[in-house]
Amino acid sequence: MVFWFNSDRERGRVFAEAFARDLPDLPFVMDISERDPEEIRYILTWTTPPDLHRFRNLEIVFCIGAGVDQFKTETLPSNVMLVRMVEDGIVRMMQEYVTLAVLALHRNLKAYIGQQADATWRSLPVRQAAQQRIGILGLGMLAQAVIERLKPFGFPFAAWSRSEQHFDGVDCYHGPGGLTPFLARTDILICLLPLTKDTQGLLDGELFAALPAGAALVHVGRGAQLDHDALIAALDEGHLSGAVIDVTEPEPLSPEHVFWRHPKITLTPHIASATQPETAARAVIDNIKRHRDGLDPIGLVDRNRGY
Ligand code: NDP
Repeated sequence: MVFWFNSDRERGRVFAEAFARDLPDLPFVMDISERDPEEIRYILTWTTPPDLHRFRNLEIVFCIGAGVDQFKTETLPSNVMLVRMVEDGIVRMMQEYVTLAVLALHRNLKAYIGQQADATWRSLPVRQAAQQRIGILGLGMLAQAVIERLKPFGFPFAAWSRSEQHFDGVDCYHGPGGLTPFLARTDILICLLPLTKDTQGLLDGELFAALPAGAALVHVGRGAQLDHDALIAALDEGHLSGAVIDVTEPEPLSPEHVFWRHPKITLTPHIASATQPETAARAVIDNIKRHRDGLDPIGLVDRNRGY
């Protein structure tokens, strides 16, 4: 029984130390060239490795990231579990990024950076937090953590999920029928949805039109959820006031892409959050122990839902 770490060596070294310390009976390898594929029980990887059928005794594929849209799940045998990364480091970084983005939009930071470049000393109107309605697309692990971090500022919150959810202090909407009323009460929209066939292209012109005039977007889900032309049109018409974009399709964007130089867009290169090896190794080890105890791993992906 062997664990194959199929990712970058730097993080692999941290994982190797943690496995040697906390799971010494499970051989941990980064190079499988000398191994019989039938020994491999667990793989940690970003996406489906080639020739997966070689690993006839594979039980769990752990994704090194929180999203699993890059997997070709149809190539994973149905008896193999796919587990996304659920670990404290990803959560903390996402809380930081979204807090940074929301406060930057709330307090007009982009406009002040522009004014500084022109040596313009002028105050801009600012709403009180209680009037700045935050709406989150998704109410999963990351959305909930972001809400907890933002709560002390006093923003009113709503969230939209696939199934009916309840979360303290949040107006909860769900399903296709809940989307329009959710958007109508949202001034800063945060996308924290997984990429699935249902969420692909969701951030389009129709969705932007359903937001109140002057609303802003924080996009930290996945690039293929956003229609770039529709965003530019909504910003240029003045219907949307700004956007903070961390994910795009493709990544990276070409140097000519309009997002780089748009005065209302803040663009970052998919850095909102990243798996931290110390905490991630702990999470994977705990999951292997759960599996050995006959429990489902935390972060088990439902292949029918796609997340
Ligand atoms: P979860 O699986 O915990 O939560 C997903 C949420 O999205 C759930 O509330 C789910 O609804 C909702 N949802 C899914 N499909 C739909 C739909 N069709 N309509 C409405 N709601 C839907 O995911 P996480 O919070 O852990 O992560 C969310 C995403 O964030 C990841 O999939 C990844 O794409 C992205 N991400 C981005 C990073 C970055 O650096 N930019 C880093 C990490 C993640 P329900 O509650 O009903 O199931």
